[in-house]
Amino acid sequence: MPLVSMRQLLDEAAKGGYGVGAFNVNNMEQIQSIMEAARETQSPVIVQASRGARAYSQDRFLYHLMIAATELYPEIPTVLHLDHGNSVETCKSAIDMGFTSVMMDGSLLADGKTPSSFEYNVDVTRQVVELAHAKGVTVEGEIGCLGGIEDGHGSGGSGLEHVTDPVQAEEFVKQTGVDALAIAIGTSHGAYKFSKKPSGDTLKMDILIEIHKRLPNVHLVMHGSSSVPQELQDVINKYGGKLNPTFGVPVEEIQLGIKNGVRKINVDTDNRLAITGAIRKVFIESPEKFDPRDYMKPAREAMKKVVATRMTQFGQAGHAKDYAPIPLSEMVKRYASEAVPA
Ligand SMILES: [Zn+2]
Repeated sequence: MPLVSMRQLLDEAAKGGYGVGAFNVNNMEQIQSIMEAARETQSPVIVQASRGARAYSQDRFLYHLMIAATELYPEIPTVLHLDHGNSVETCKSAIDMGFTSVMMDGSLLADGKTPSSFEYNVDVTRQVVELAHAKGVTVEGEIGCLGGIEDGHGSGGSGLEHVTDPVQAEEFVKQTGVDALAIAIGTSHGAYKFSKKPSGDTLKMDILIEIHKRLPNVHLVMHGSSSVPQELQDVINKYGGKLNPTFGVPVEEIQLGIKNGVRKINVDTDNRLAITGAIRKVFIESPEKFDPRDYMKPAREAMKKVVATRMTQFGQAGHAKDYAPIPLSEMVKRYASEAVPA
């Protein structure tokens, strides 16, 4: 099956009342981990690449690895999504290459750091929606700013500094016509999300619920949603790493989000931790080894385990064969028949 549109995956997830993990990749092994986890759990899947990942992999390497994934795992509905596009041009280049979904993060200016105005955000996002929908490609927007910095992208701060205003969120969707909306309810990018174990009110779930009430048909996205499990931190520190104590987003909080309209959950840090821990273990336990496969294989296996666990926890497991893919050409017609955003 060819790469499919994210809109279809998320529409199906909404019908089934489950969430879909979106996992970041930079290389072949990470893609293999995700696809193996998807096959093992029979899950539809979103694979995403940031600007940093596109630069690291020279873009075309990554794209062709994803085409290989669709050939080797034809039964898995697979989306290739651009994470945090910083400008209309970045999104356009991803669409031209064959990404089936793009994020236009107009909550920040093109520098990827400075919070923008509502008007700027609407303007750039609407341009991307026009470009993307004309090719059947899905668009995720962002309103409010997430905390932390990853791959040089982010406003920094705690994640509670620019929490999404539900009224603005509704207006933003009306004016842009985005398919999915990333909201800021207290999550942050990177490993250092919370310095103590989050309690039930650390994340602004009431805001999430209010946004879902106002926008019942928009797929909500939780960024910075790694759980940063203690056992993954322990492996790294046991084998010579130096991570400071940190806490991520508890899986139960994500599951509560899924009950309230969250359909896409971004996970990157947990996989990075799993890979690094596995590699460190080989280096310390078998210092005589020097074949990269000796540590890349366990690294791939460790990431696969994390991804498969999240797929089960988010509820996407078992849903790979629920539906036939809608070609992007058909998505073009569907978008054309919808009312054009104001
Ligand atoms: Zn993000």
